[in-house]
Amino acid sequence: MKLSELKTGQSGIIIKVSGHGGFRKRIIEMGFISGKRVEVLLNAPLRDPVKYKIMGYEVSLRHSEADLIEVLPDHEETHSEIQTETLHGLKCNDHAPLSDKMKEALKQKRHTINVALVGNPNCGKTSLFNFASGAHERVGNYSGVTVDAKYGWAEFEGYRFELVDLPGTYSLSAYSPEELYVRKQLVEKTPDVVINVIDASNLERNLYLTTQLIDMHLRMVCALNMFDETEQRGDHIDHQKLSELFGVPMVPTVFTTGRGVDQLFREIIATYEGQEDSQPNFRHVHINHGHELEHGIDEIQEHLKQEADLRQKYSTRYLAIKLLENDAEVEKIISRLPDAKEIIEHRNQAAARVKEETGNDSETAVMDAKYGFIHGALKEAEYSTGRQKDTYRTTHVIDAVLTNRYLGFPIFLLLLLLMFSATFTLGQYPMDWIEAGVEWLGNLISETLPDGPIKDMLIDGVVGGVGAVIVFLPQILILYFFISYMEDCGYMARAAFIMDKLMHKMGLHGKSFIPLIMGFGCNVPAIMSTRTIESRRSRLVTMLILPMMSCSARVPIYIMITGSFFALKYRSLVMLSLYLIGIIMAVVLSRLFTKTVAKGEDTPFVMELPPYRFPTWKAIGRHTWEKGKQYLKKMGGIILVASIIVWALGYFPIPDNPDMGKQERQEQSYIGKLGHTIEPLFKAQGFDWKLDMGLLAGVGAKEIVASTLGVLYSNNDSFSDDNDFNDEGGKYEILHRQITAEVARENGISYKEAEPIATLTAYCFLLFVLLYFPCVATIAAIKGETGSWRWALFAAGYTTALAWIVSAAVFQIGRLFI
Ligand code: GDP
Ligand code: MG
Repeated sequence: MKLSELKTGQSGIIIKVSGHGGFRKRIIEMGFISGKRVEVLLNAPLRDPVKYKIMGYEVSLRHSEADLIEVLPDHEETHSEIQTETLHGLKCNDHAPLSDKMKEALKQKRHTINVALVGNPNCGKTSLFNFASGAHERVGNYSGVTVDAKYGWAEFEGYRFELVDLPGTYSLSAYSPEELYVRKQLVEKTPDVVINVIDASNLERNLYLTTQLIDMHLRMVCALNMFDETEQRGDHIDHQKLSELFGVPMVPTVFTTGRGVDQLFREIIATYEGQEDSQPNFRHVHINHGHELEHGIDEIQEHLKQEADLRQKYSTRYLAIKLLENDAEVEKIISRLPDAKEIIEHRNQAAARVKEETGNDSETAVMDAKYGFIHGALKEAEYSTGRQKDTYRTTHVIDAVLTNRYLGFPIFLLLLLLMFSATFTLGQYPMDWIEAGVEWLGNLISETLPDGPIKDMLIDGVVGGVGAVIVFLPQILILYFFISYMEDCGYMARAAFIMDKLMHKMGLHGKSFIPLIMGFGCNVPAIMSTRTIESRRSRLVTMLILPMMSCSARVPIYIMITGSFFALKYRSLVMLSLYLIGIIMAVVLSRLFTKTVAKGEDTPFVMELPPYRFPTWKAIGRHTWEKGKQYLKKMGGIILVASIIVWALGYFPIPDNPDMGKQERQEQSYIGKLGHTIEPLFKAQGFDWKLDMGLLAGVGAKEIVASTLGVLYSNNDSFSDDNDFNDEGGKYEILHRQITAEVARENGISYKEAEPIATLTAYCFLLFVLLYFPCVATIAAIKGETGSWRWALFAAGYTTALAWIVSAAVFQIGRLFI
């Protein structure tokens, strides 16, 4: 009996709650748990909602919701008994003991599981049905549709399985009557558990239906049928792993012989009995459909969630995905809603974006995403087959190379090297132009404005500081272009895949790799993007190690220092070494953190491998620009302000003696005093006070390190005549010259002798910049995401300590050889 059929004053014991996972979870959270007694306080026909009393609380449900709750009514058992109780004013409540008869009836009802068989044609559904139900079957022709469904039952370990053998379908789209019929059955008949029969000899295609069933958020068990065939053929699949990744139990079966059927039934019972959240072999996964689609799904869901009737019947995520697939049936359902227009508008916007980005319609994009999920899961479950029958052949052939056990990693490194070399060499030309522009601007100000602090501020502060950073814009855009290209063409997912094994060794999983890659752009959005990581522990550790990723803000200082200290052919290598050291540090720290400060277990998940495609120029252009824009914004904000502050600290107080040399004057200034005060802190690294100030200023944002050095080392020629240095090394030669001269003076050696030491100092400086305190914004983001200052301060502290130790060690060891 349904709960909605109980009348006012009646009560019953809850047997089960049907419906999709989201609905069930909500209802169960309200207290409608099987075995509990519920009493109807007020049920007026045709009037919503109905008032119930459960576990001492009053709750309201809609009729349609109460339709999905099955109860065993108290009055059915023995009518007289209830009547006497009511007569004596003893209302039924939770504590009223169950009679033995009642217990027995409850158990019987409770132990009946409605099971629907779903799968592709010829995967073995009917074979299972016949094997399990033996003679107990009847054929039904269902409500107006000319599609057959067979009903039967089977008994196993005290449970009764009511089986329905549904027609075979490849998908759950609205194209064929069979598909619509199966969909309708699943939504309207609300089976307790779905058996998804999978032809394991054709895994990839069969799993497509599985991904759609996952979208529907049903309780499900998969039978990997025809397992005998796969074994004969020599296929390999780690079905345990596959099961973890899909969040669904998967049992190898052979329905012609009955192999695996017991195990399958046991899994069904476990799934049925389990409270979804606490059950280890069931986890509702969201198949990631890529940024644009997911954005569309979110927006559509936002509207659908307002619709109580709809929301209780369907998973809103499923409806949103179906809408994006232009599903006519779902469109019909949506068209009845008050905000149908807005919903369709969101759908169209998302579809247009997808079209623009991929050149595909959203229907294809959804399909690609699902195959990407399957492909990734199969790859991770080490699937291999003797026979190749393949819709995404090109992708698989390319993947065979790019994710190859031996080739994948070298190719990845080679691509990184290529990316950085191109960034340097191609970036050189526009960089020269911008530089000429900055110089021209400086000269213009110098000629037109009268002498005074304003002029000095503009030239040395604004143009010197911002100019030192803005010249890197082309290089940053080129870098972002490569990253965007790799993301959009599908390679980034492979890079993540290649790294997955390594990530597991780090105690993380591949999903953490995406934020880490994003960290190369900017740590702040990368920290936000860790939200997609399911396990809290992995998420925390990912955030903690993210500062090790060289964000774009560090690029100007890398380029500045490598450009002035290293010959052209070594520059890419030096850069690469920094990136790699960051990565290695991240590995080591992650291992350390997962064993100490953030212990816990791991959640499996799928790394999607979407098909390769040529990204559209428009999409790449936009993604590159979106990233570059943030860089420019920062330039006008914090960097401008910081440059002026650094300049002012270096300019004031105005000395009494106007003929004082620039170098001397700087030393007398506030910044000089501050710099000299903290100088002893960095003795072990051989940094001079200007470098120290750069580091101090960089706490605000790492670009400020470059702009500060730009200000501090601007136009000082007091050393340039003291040596035989020939000026061919480019624009940051001044940095090179001054640092080297400083080292020479400090150690009382010649300029020539000082050069290797200065180079070592410069490299240690780079190491320090790589490792130390990321920036205020990153620390704030960690605070925001972890919700505690503790982790934010921990990140700030450990990075700085690490930077100090590593750079000091490298310098001291290096000095032994120089
Ligand atoms: P349905 O279309 O999903 O109902 O599939 P059927 O149950 O009608 O099975 C299709 C064919 O596959 C039949 O010839 C079955 O005998 C065969 N079959 C079913 N299960 C297995 C299995 O596990 N191994 C093998 N080798 N054949 C199977
Ligand atoms: Mg059949």
